[in-house]
Amino acid sequence: MMKPHLILALLAMLSACSDSYKPSFERNPPPTESTLPADSEATDTSETGSDPADASDDSNTATDTNPVTPEPKPDPTPTPAPQFTVDPETLSFPVVFHLGGSNVWQSEEKLRPVIAEAQRILQQAKIEILPTYTTDMNPTENMDVFFVPQIPNNPGVNGISYGGGAPLEIYVIDNVGLNKVDDQRPADAPAPRYFKGAKPGDKIPVSADEAEQGRTTAHEIGHQLGLPHRQNTTNLLASGTTGWTLNAAEIATVRATALDKFKAKFVQTLP
Ligand SMILES: [Zn+2]
Repeated sequence: MMKPHLILALLAMLSACSDSYKPSFERNPPPTESTLPADSEATDTSETGSDPADASDDSNTATDTNPVTPEPKPDPTPTPAPQFTVDPETLSFPVVFHLGGSNVWQSEEKLRPVIAEAQRILQQAKIEILPTYTTDMNPTENMDVFFVPQIPNNPGVNGISYGGGAPLEIYVIDNVGLNKVDDQRPADAPAPRYFKGAKPGDKIPVSADEAEQGRTTAHEIGHQLGLPHRQNTTNLLASGTTGWTLNAAEIATVRATALDKFKAKFVQTLP
């Protein structure tokens, strides 16, 4: 049991603490708009046992006269998140990826390296595919890519693109097989700005299988964008290789087709 004089001494100490805090309030001048602490900063002082955090609730009002400015910060503005810089010539259009028929590519997460690879290839034409993902296997009014174990009515081919008119459908098999050519690409692909949580400079690791899947997807998208085969092994439109390049004429064709057939436009700010 605590002796009475100890309790009294303790109470005296406590009141001394709170007393010594009070004058610091009175010494501070009333805050101006620019010196008011942001909410997160104001909560730092709540550990002192007083109630400056409450005062911050009023900090947006012009009539605020509560003199609570424990330590004004020079710049209370939070640092903005880094922004992707996108070339204004970029042509963007939506592509719907249908995962309901695949035995391998069954989720957005799983497909990320494939999309990153396809986007890296199409980037040379400043083409941006804006992906949505669905398990529904019905075509939409947009460009559709279906991942399937085998192409319907065309066993043995890696992918097929039904261009010309509607439906604008692409089929890619789950496990494509390509002849490897020296493509000079690093294994990582840049994270497209439309990936959830992506920051500028983020890299997506792409395995050999994912790279082949992404290359085939980009090849079929190339067909949809008006390109015929060109059997130069390092070219994206060579059939059955890992080549990925486009020449100037091909870039002009895909851009014109994206505008005309897919109503592509530069999407400055993603939704
Ligand atoms: Zn082809």
